[in-house]
Amino acid sequence: MTCVSQDGQLVLRGTIDETAKLVDLLSYARDGRLALDLGAISFINSPGVRAWISMQQVAAKQRIALELRRVSEPIVHQLNIVPAARGVSLVSSFFAPYECEECDCEQVILLDVRVHGGDLARMRPPAMTCPDCKRSMSFAHPPELYFTFLAAPS
Ligand SMILES: [Zn+2]
Repeated sequence: MTCVSQDGQLVLRGTIDETAKLVDLLSYARDGRLALDLGAISFINSPGVRAWISMQQVAAKQRIALELRRVSEPIVHQLNIVPAARGVSLVSSFFAPYECEECDCEQVILLDVRVHGGDLARMRPPAMTCPDCKRSMSFAHPPELYFTFLAAPS
């Protein structure tokens, strides 16, 4: 995994595994806030998930508000499976897979939680049109499973 500080956020890329020093990233927090751009995270393995949960726990202890931006599909799946991975983070946008049956293709679309909040609160995928044929696309996963991480922590 590589990490670059850019425009007031940290941009992470690659694989999150046992070599990822995620807790160290918290030293970049300013005024108790830290934003992570996860759009280029392609994979996270089990030691990576443990490192991720440690980061969430330390952030909670230090009262650092974590904002997750452009959360990639592999991370969305982890947030859904492992509630501790969600921790105290706020997700502001995330990628979601849509399918066009006409073109027989999959499109990964960035969903902004503020823009699509109404649909997402009802576990309803926002309507999207295919960039190629302009027909409406269908959601590629059961939405109630894919959007689990958006529900308020219990
Ligand atoms: Zn299409």
